[in-house]
Amino acid sequence: MTITTVLFDMDSTLNSIDEIEFSHKYFKMLHERFFSEFELQYFYDSLTEITKKVMFSKSPRELAVKTFMKEMSKSYKKPQKKLYEDFKDFYATDYNQLEEFVRPAEGSQEAVQTCFDKGYTVVIATTPVFTEAAIMKRLMWSGMGEFTFKLVTHAENMHFSKPREEYYTEILKKIKKKPFECIMVGNELVGDVVSPYRLGLKTFYVPLRPDNEDLFISPELKRFSKIKPTYKGKLPDFTKLAKNDFQC
Ligand SMILES: [Mg+2]
Repeated sequence: MTITTVLFDMDSTLNSIDEIEFSHKYFKMLHERFFSEFELQYFYDSLTEITKKVMFSKSPRELAVKTFMKEMSKSYKKPQKKLYEDFKDFYATDYNQLEEFVRPAEGSQEAVQTCFDKGYTVVIATTPVFTEAAIMKRLMWSGMGEFTFKLVTHAENMHFSKPREEYYTEILKKIKKKPFECIMVGNELVGDVVSPYRLGLKTFYVPLRPDNEDLFISPELKRFSKIKPTYKGKLPDFTKLAKNDFQC
């Protein structure tokens, strides 16, 4: 097996993040600062809907950030440029308060360091619905600030998002790699395992709850039950495998 490239998911893979508390506070702060004329619940629901639209967008010539601002502009009747400026300011200031919900995952630094030591190309394949500034901050909070990655995906450099397969095609094109030489490491079955699997990438599945994950698989995920990751385990298991050149 000739692995040359490792793609890491960020949230709940390289970091330990309280996603519920994080998004609750994120929405609340955004609402208070820029969107208080709307009801909080409306804002929450509509922004969630917009985020989904960005994730499933099929526009190969429109950057995710553009889709995001366009959809927001439609929903909240504000100019795209103003929205972009507001978000930019928000990520430079209030966003810092979210650091308390993010910390490095156990074994994440060693996993990434091992990949660099082995000479692999290392990519951060995180859902690109945030701007570069926001993702770089979260990456730093995840203890990854010292690494220089080949590519970190974000809303300003990607046209497609997870869970779409085109997201991975776009990454491979950017880094000039073939699917069979890449492995994707992540905690989500659809976005991190099913889509890369279909393109021929190897996968290392790091479920949040390895012992009783079936209890948490929703009925809609059952249709993927035949798709098995190449490997499954915790980050220290990944590190061992990488040290061994992915020979079991
Ligand atoms: Mg994740």
